[in-house]
Amino acid sequence: MKVGLTLLSRGHLEDKYRYLFRLIADPQQKADQRKLGLLLHDILQVPRQLGEVAAFGGSNIEPSVRSCLGEREDLEAAHFLAWLKQEPQSLVWLPVLHRLAAAESAKHQAKCNSCKQYPIIGLRYRCLKCFNFDMCQNCFFAGRLTKGHKLSHPMQEYCSATTSVEDMRDFTKALKNKFKSKRYFMKHPRMGYLPVRSVLEGDELESPVASPQHNDMHSR
Ligand SMILES: [Zn+2]
Ligand SMILES: [Zn+2]
Repeated sequence: MKVGLTLLSRGHLEDKYRYLFRLIADPQQKADQRKLGLLLHDILQVPRQLGEVAAFGGSNIEPSVRSCLGEREDLEAAHFLAWLKQEPQSLVWLPVLHRLAAAESAKHQAKCNSCKQYPIIGLRYRCLKCFNFDMCQNCFFAGRLTKGHKLSHPMQEYCSATTSVEDMRDFTKALKNKFKSKRYFMKHPRMGYLPVRSVLEGDELESPVASPQHNDMHSR
């Protein structure tokens, strides 16, 4: 019950992560494998109730426990947070939910190159290969193509208006990407999450698809 309410509350993402860790930590501020497994099992009840658990690697928590702990015997808060910030597949729906909520009322000083919406409302997607190329979330989710822009291009997702530092950084990236071939992007798809899967599960079924790199909510 506590886990469920925490996940669905309006709190900040990092506060949620910290609180969840506190639920399983012993007096030495450490959690063991079993406690971590129980927590992940509880967390997965949210996508499970919605019938979406398969999309996040299934209800088997083993691979996630292994991914989080690695070679460790027990877990500290800092390591748990660092793992969550990579957005592991089984839990990626939670930060995505936060970004969607944050983007709901966001206005971006940019025009969608596909449907011409201006300003873009919601999530904004900027191409890191074409200069001055943006898409609104509807066009991006529908995979609409426009002259010159390809699905293989790396995209940057924004849930809030960009700063001049980010604009400059993206411009530099686009400049560098200009010199990379289409094959380079096919070979190096950027994933928006940390893949978590067991060796026993089917290979191709869950092969990760390239998705836009998200921006870090906590840094803004
Ligand atoms: Zn659009
Ligand atoms: Zn492009």
